Amino acid sequence: MSDLAKLGIWDDPAIFDALSGYLDVAENRRPAKFRIAATVAAGLDPAAESEDALWAELERLTPLFLARWRAIRAGARLPPASDGPSLLELCRELAYRMLGHCNFCPWNCRVDRVGGAKFGACKLASGSRVSSHFHHMGEELFYRGTEGSGTIFFTSCNMRGAFCQNGDISTDKDNGEETDPRTLASMAWTLRREGCHNINWVGGEVVIHLHASLTLSPSWAATSRRRRRSWLAQVRRRPTASGSSTTSPRQLFLTERSTHRCSGTATSS
Ligand code: SF4
Repeated sequence: MSDLAKLGIWDDPAIFDALSGYLDVAENRRPAKFRIAATVAAGLDPAAESEDALWAELERLTPLFLARWRAIRAGARLPPASDGPSLLELCRELAYRMLGHCNFCPWNCRVDRVGGAKFGACKLASGSRVSSHFHHMGEELFYRGTEGSGTIFFTSCNMRGAFCQNGDISTDKDNGEETDPRTLASMAWTLRREGCHNINWVGGEVVIHLHASLTLSPSWAATSRRRRRSWLAQVRRRPTASGSSTTSPRQLFLTERSTHRCSGTATSS
């Protein structure tokens, strides 16, 4: 049992009932939802179908996903990852289709963030920028635990809060550094390897980075070496906003050491 699970807060029945699923994932006793989604086979090739067909397939697969998720919460084992396209890949493809007429959030701007000629309320094109990433010891106790919450701060926001406590990074879309999904995966993997209890995407409101987070999610959803290779090949084909070249898997996931860390930041999400 880790030090997170030893905290006295879990003795409170209300907290335990509400967050026991999170604790199971944090302790690696249960898989995160994105790993379950990777086991649900899609009945089509996401890259070859219309957006309407993708939405219809999402409708069909959602009850299957929920049934599998409930079964796993009740103790069932995680099935093997799908051999072909999965619900996770379907969601990733849908996110990129939506990015071309962005309606990620209620602003419903309908701008083409891939083309980037016109911005919506969040002022972002397809690239995501990260201000800092670090072990956050200022989050609520069940998130920060003893090793911290692995917090990755995106810049920009769609909410325009006048009194935002993170206004220095959420109101300036050019703050931080442009970060492609592979580097985001490296940050998350490094924080987790360093002992963080969770990965905490904050900013700014993070749904505006939905496409980036869905692209990095398959990194470890697929447990087989073959699927990891397949995922990396797909990500390599996906053009980055900066047009940068590919990076080796070893560079991506094992050696990136938080060079942008900002240990003095004391904000919370
Ligand atoms: S994510 Fe940005 S561009 Fe898309 S709807 Fe929201 S504010 Fe508009």
